[in-house]
Amino acid sequence: MRAIALAAAVMATAPGAAAQSNHPAVALALATLQRDNAWTLEQQVSLCEIPAPPFQEQARAAEYASRFEALGYRATIDAVGNVIATRAGSGGGRRLVLAAHLDTVFPEGTDVRVRRTGTKLAGPGIGDDCRGLAVLLAVARAIALARVATAGDLVFVGNVGEEGLGNLRGTKHLFEAKSAGPIDAFISVDGIGLGMVSRAVGSNRYRVTFRGPGGHSYGDFGMPNPMHAMGRAIATIADLDVPEAPRTIFNVGVVAGGTSVNSITGSATMQVDLRSESAAALARVDSAFHRAVDRAVEAERARWPKSNISLAAEIEVLGRRPAGSQPDSAWIVREAVAAAAELGIPAPKTGAGSTDANVPIGLGIPALAIDGGGTGDGAHSLGEWYDDGDRGYLGPQWALLLAVRITARR
Ligand SMILES: [Zn+2]
Repeated sequence: MRAIALAAAVMATAPGAAAQSNHPAVALALATLQRDNAWTLEQQVSLCEIPAPPFQEQARAAEYASRFEALGYRATIDAVGNVIATRAGSGGGRRLVLAAHLDTVFPEGTDVRVRRTGTKLAGPGIGDDCRGLAVLLAVARAIALARVATAGDLVFVGNVGEEGLGNLRGTKHLFEAKSAGPIDAFISVDGIGLGMVSRAVGSNRYRVTFRGPGGHSYGDFGMPNPMHAMGRAIATIADLDVPEAPRTIFNVGVVAGGTSVNSITGSATMQVDLRSESAAALARVDSAFHRAVDRAVEAERARWPKSNISLAAEIEVLGRRPAGSQPDSAWIVREAVAAAAELGIPAPKTGAGSTDANVPIGLGIPALAIDGGGTGDGAHSLGEWYDDGDRGYLGPQWALLLAVRITARR
């Protein structure tokens, strides 16, 4: 998911490390990706026709693992359902995870058949993230066929739980349980085009429930009212001060509660979304939100001093994604720019987003989400489409060259 894409051009800089594309094995792997582009698209379509609703990625994961096995990799599936296939390096380089997410936003029963019209493919999930899944397989195949030797290990991961309430659980497991071993750098292929997300928009999401005994609007008038307390909280949240840069937002997105116009409701709930590119700014708006809820309860109690009934608010966490920022001068951003330059891709744009890369970026581990090439639109909608155009292979080539460059770093 690419919630936000505030793009800024990165100046094309001279490659930080020596060009890798003139190494014979690497050149052969790049040529293989171009020559066998139809194979890549075949993977993209056939994987996409296996449904992968949130928390139900198992069938697609099993098939994904077997495709890595068919390419000569040993693939395993970890405790949360991530597919992991490793190509061991010769030693001395960085251990890189190249990931793409298995899950989609589409519920069970969605028609996931893909329609082809020329170079255009249409179907739910075809870009987000069947493109990334196909790019990984194509890179794994080209590296194996061309016998590219990397210094650091290259670990391919098809991860679960990127979308929505999946809450990045697949990637969190990779870093918390180390199910793919130690990770020095992380690249998620997630998106269409040739840009990258280098800044992680963090989010905290909550459901707040205000509760009291409730009663009759006329007969019980004079007691604290959960709905009114919630209104007070919303009014305070609506007036919170947040910085424009780093961009920080708040939103009350869903409110519910009440039974009738002449009842004091027993409960009222709201769902709140807080986001920022900065962990510190996110923490500040988060504590202001918690204060707003506490003060709303106090103010509603204070409004009716003669009443001794209870009023309380409960805050549940719906999701947390860590925030973090990497400057355009960060080495991983420069490697991505240098790899693109080797392929003649004009300076790729950097942006902010909410992707699997949030987890490592939040931990201070160099990470990016890069696009997988082509063009497209309609992510998260039934009208999603992807068009490979005549240079779609540049996406897999970029991912491969970036992987080679990163694993070559000491
Ligand atoms: Zn995605």
